[in-house]
Amino acid sequence: MSTDFKATKAMFDLPEGLIYLDGNSLGPLPKTVAPRVAQTITAEWGQMLIRAWNEAKWMEMPLRVGDRIARLVGAEPGSVVMGDTLSIKVWQALASALEMVPGRGVILSDNGNFPSDLYIAQGLTGMLGADYSLRVVDPEAVFDAIDETVAVVMITETDYRTGRRHDMAALARKAHEKGALLVWDLAHSAGAFPVHLARDGADFAVGCTYKYLNSGPGGPAFIYVAPRHQERALPALSGWMGHAAPFAFDLDYRPATGVERMRVGTPPILALAALDAALDVWDNVDMEDLRRVSLDLQDAFIAGVSANCPDLALANPPEREARSSQVSFAHPEGYAIMQALIAHGVIGDFRAPDIMRFGFTPLYIDLDDVAQAVAILTRIMRDRIWDRPEYRVRAKVT
Ligand SMILES: *Cc1c(COP(=O)(O)O)cnc(C)c1O
Repeated sequence: MSTDFKATKAMFDLPEGLIYLDGNSLGPLPKTVAPRVAQTITAEWGQMLIRAWNEAKWMEMPLRVGDRIARLVGAEPGSVVMGDTLSIKVWQALASALEMVPGRGVILSDNGNFPSDLYIAQGLTGMLGADYSLRVVDPEAVFDAIDETVAVVMITETDYRTGRRHDMAALARKAHEKGALLVWDLAHSAGAFPVHLARDGADFAVGCTYKYLNSGPGGPAFIYVAPRHQERALPALSGWMGHAAPFAFDLDYRPATGVERMRVGTPPILALAALDAALDVWDNVDMEDLRRVSLDLQDAFIAGVSANCPDLALANPPEREARSSQVSFAHPEGYAIMQALIAHGVIGDFRAPDIMRFGFTPLYIDLDDVAQAVAILTRIMRDRIWDRPEYRVRAKVT
């Protein structure tokens, strides 16, 4: 049986007449989320009050919800836990991995990475002192740059601008051969296509949930620690929720067993409830189906735009397998074109200096949406509708 994407589309509350191609930045609202959060507020917080930590099992939520994500990213049960934001989880994974490779101080990453990951690595190495540094190379040079000086290879699988993907299994093999560990950022992978953390040898992985997993703005992030490392990895951010016995109130830190040691402080229950409800969308989704249909939608969009908008240059890899779930086109006036598109009911986004991004998930996008989006973009380009002052005004968030 293949996945019923008409059924998943019906699970989202999308504004009438809008084509939403920006789930790669902020996933849309699943219908189950608002009632579930309302219930958590009124029935659990409102009525149970402090008892809800036990009675509504709030305390178990970070691990229980983590297991639902584990299934989507090919992780072993009990190896993913929720909490904090992605930037913080990057810090935690990096610090934890560095500590496990004594005598080496280099974090290797690439200049196609999302800046926050690089900033976090800069902050961490700066704090650790002169023996630690961040080495940044071109994405194509990462494999060859993994040598015996590298402690941790920190790679975001998918380039946030072009959707180009790294071969994570090959990087993991090379890292392990050279005695390094791999931290894998899944921000643009989890929920976008099949991921196989266990099969492909990840040591640590991190990701956010407000993009492809539709948990809402600022939804909690996740961290994965391979089972073989779980009793050795120290959490770096050693908060009481990662303690072996938080309610013993010991004065000395002792890490919990398993991945729960990566918990830091009190979990954001309302945000976790939103995420938990949003994950219902995935219950009957086969990730291989999702991948195949996502690529079909992309192919249709690329073919339509290439045939009708000669001024737009394809900025993602043309081959299907090398792509993620987004399509990018470059144009010097990309910002204004995207503003015109948004004003005409097609929402994508823009990344400096000249990239327009369009996300294609079959969860709520179908071929009719693609055809309409192509038609609207074609009109905007042909009639130069974008060439108006109001479309050039830069907002704070692009
Ligand atoms: C979206 C994204 C982030 C954002 O981190 P937050 O802490 O959630 O703001 C970080 N890294 C990558 C690779 C991303 O794509």
